[in-house]
Amino acid sequence: MTSEIIQLKNISKVYHEGGDQHAIFNQLSVNFIQGQTSAIIGRSGSGKSTLLNLISGIDLPTSGEVIVNGNRMTRLDESNRTKLRRKEIGFIFQAFNLIPTLTVLENILLPLELNHYDKKTDEAIELLNQVGLANRYNSFPDRLSGGEQQRIAIVRALIHEPKIVLADEPTGNLDTKTAETILQLLEELICDKNLTLILVTHSMEMAQLADLIYEVRDNQLMLNSG
Ligand code: ADP
Ligand code: MG
Repeated sequence: MTSEIIQLKNISKVYHEGGDQHAIFNQLSVNFIQGQTSAIIGRSGSGKSTLLNLISGIDLPTSGEVIVNGNRMTRLDESNRTKLRRKEIGFIFQAFNLIPTLTVLENILLPLELNHYDKKTDEAIELLNQVGLANRYNSFPDRLSGGEQQRIAIVRALIHEPKIVLADEPTGNLDTKTAETILQLLEELICDKNLTLILVTHSMEMAQLADLIYEVRDNQLMLNSG
């Protein structure tokens, strides 16, 4: 059975700037299936990050419905959207976004704290081990290379066992070889757990690792078959 963990129904998104209207999505409908990896490509400014913000409830559509794991985002207030996001979603960003004043382990445990879950130090160390960085748990982020920081950010995105992982150009700050290693690692980790990954990238090479490739174009999400 396939389960549609993310449903976008007739989404429109318009930004208003001064007197101008700027349409990003127009009547977009798309579903993402649990366990699948989708890559999102598209030119800069086309709406890739906006799409992730709509899925995560950071932003709301101008019209239409966003349903995440059965929850209608548009019917939740901001505080409940935040709760849902913290529970169901893991984020990986281009700039890693680790907190510089916290150690690697403290950074990783943060999503558990925000959810008021028990500290799972053993699981954190085990995941760190899987990304080859178990010996760095007490280091501060600025002691680590970009590739190492992104591996930590991946562990942080997974520690609270979200169903969905959203990655916004996660390899944009890394050289090609490191980028490939990171994405393969991410694929392995999420494949084990049947997670749904949405990967924004401008690299077609990286996008090829996904089950499906979509392009944001003409205010729509076009399935890129080929
Ligand atoms: P991408 O990630 O594909 O580069 P974005 O989703 O960040 O593109 O942005 C899409 C378009 O929406 C851009 O033209 C951007 O300037 C505009 N935009 C994004 N966020 C806002 C906002 N909060 N207010 C007004 N315009 C925005
Ligand atoms: Mg972006």
